[in-house]
Formats: sequence, C-alpha cells, structure tokens
Amino acid sequence: MLNGTKTFITNVGHAGLYVIFARTGPDERAAGVTSFLVPAGSPGLRVGQVFDKMGLNGSPTGELVLEDVEVPAANRLGAEGKGFVVAMRALDSGRIGISGQGLGIAQAAVDEARTLMRDGGHDQGDDFTLADMATRVESARLLAYQAAWLCSRGRPFTRQASMAKLHCTDTAMQVTIDALQIAGEEGARAGSPFERHMRDAKALQIYEGSNQVQRIVIARELVNAG
Ligand SMILES: Cc1cc2nc3c(=O)[nH]c(=O)nc-3n(C[C@H](O)[C@H](O)[C@H](O)COP(=O)(O)OP(=O)(O)OC[C@H]3O[C@@H](n4cnc5c(N)ncnc54)[C@H](O)[C@@H]3O)c2cc1C
Repeated sequence: MLNGTKTFITNVGHAGLYVIFARTGPDERAAGVTSFLVPAGSPGLRVGQVFDKMGLNGSPTGELVLEDVEVPAANRLGAEGKGFVVAMRALDSGRIGISGQGLGIAQAAVDEARTLMRDGGHDQGDDFTLADMATRVESARLLAYQAAWLCSRGRPFTRQASMAKLHCTDTAMQVTIDALQIAGEEGARAGSPFERHMRDAKALQIYEGSNQVQRIVIARELVNAG
C-alpha cells in the first residue's frame, strides 16, 4: 500500500506507467527504499498541482499523489530494499537522454543564429561567437555518442554519462545565451525562438541530477578508480 506525494514529475498526467520509489522498511536512507511499477489508472493515484514553469512548456510537470494505492508484489522492480540501485541505474542511462535534449536545443540555437547571420548580415564578432558555439556543440555531441556507445555495449558508462550530461546541458545554456546575443533585440522579444531555447535550456542543468551532482559523480569515479 503506497502513500505520499512526489513533486516535480515530468509528463505527469500523460504517462501510462509510473516508476515509484517508496520507503518500505525502517532501514536508514537508501537501504529502506524499494522501486515499483504503478499503472496510471491505479485506484488512489492522481495528479496534484501542475506547475507553471519558465521553460519546457511542451512537457507538463507537477505532483503525483498516492492515497492507499495497492500495488501487487509482482509490480516490484528489483529486490525489496534495492530501489536505490534501480534509481542509480535508471539515472545513468537517463542522463544520456538529457544529453540528447541539450544537444537538440543547442543545435537549434546554432542553426537559428546561422540563418540570421546569412540573411541579416554579420560582423567578425558574430563569426567568432558562432564558431565557438558550433565547436562546443560538436564536442558535446561526441561525449554523448561515447556514453551511448558504451551503454549499448553493456560496458561501464557512469562517468561518461555524467560528463555528457554536464557538458551537453552547460553547452545548451551557453550557446542559447550566445545565439540570443547575436540576435539582439529580436532575440529578446517574448515568443522568439531565441528566448524560448534559453528558457528551455535552464531546467536541463537542474534535473536528472543537477550539474553540481554530476561533478560529484565524475570526481568520485576518478578518485576511486583502481
Ligand atoms: C522541469 C523539471 C522536471 C523534473 N522532473 C522530475 C521527474 O520526473 N522525477 C523526479 O523524481 N524529479 C524530477 N525533477 C526534480 C529534479 O530531479 C530535482 O529538482 C533535481 O534533482 C535537483 O534537486 P532539488 O531541486 O531538490 O535541488 P537541491 O538538492 O535542493 O539543490 C539545490 C542546489 O544546490 C546544489 N547542491 C545540492 N547539493 C550539493 C552538493 N553536495 N554540492 C554542491 N552543490 C549542491 C544543487 O546542485 C542545486 O543547484 C524535475 C525538476 C524539474 C526542474
């Protein structure tokens, strides 16, 4: 029987199946957490508040409320008390997905800046900015492909996934700011693609483990490596 509320859930109300991490034992911290698969139609499961966000408005984010939701033991994902292991594994591959999200936003910013410069004129300052933007995106893309390649071959990829997430999302933030700078007042107009990409990029540095947390993961992997 699951009870509780989880806030900031991506695609809340649209998902058909939720992966829920719940405390199932008295053990301290991570040791007392178990993972469950809970279908969206389960009695007692409902959407709470849906939030207004500064960006990513193509995807709703809100609360998921569980009131006496009965879940059969067959829906347990992994062993009892091993939910933290499931979560960490899901986050590793999820971080490759967020890298892709960052790359998409970053590439769109580069493409829009290019079109603007081609159609509307540019100076050498714009050229240098565009060159740096495109170079950052290419390097980020290679990191993401490396992490995806390791993952698809069943090789360890925790550090590479964190590096890809960190670099792709920091790149998305930086190049969307740069693209808006090139666009000038047109970019700053509400509703322009430049300002939208900048607002969308910010959440990527926060979720699936903030970028500070990625640095903790990367440093831990480096320091503890045999
Ligand atoms: C749009 C959006 C969608 C989301 N979707 C989901 C979802 O579907 N499912 C889900 O479970 N969660 C989701 N989240 C939540 C998200 O995973 C958390 O917001 C994120 O992990 C950061 O945690 P927090 O907000 O509690 O920040 P906090 O942990 O309170 O951290 C606040 C700040 O302090 C920094 N910080 C914290 N600890 C340290 C440290 N030890 N060293 C250095 N800096 C530190 C963080 O990096 C951050 O910048 C979503 C969030 C957003 C914004």
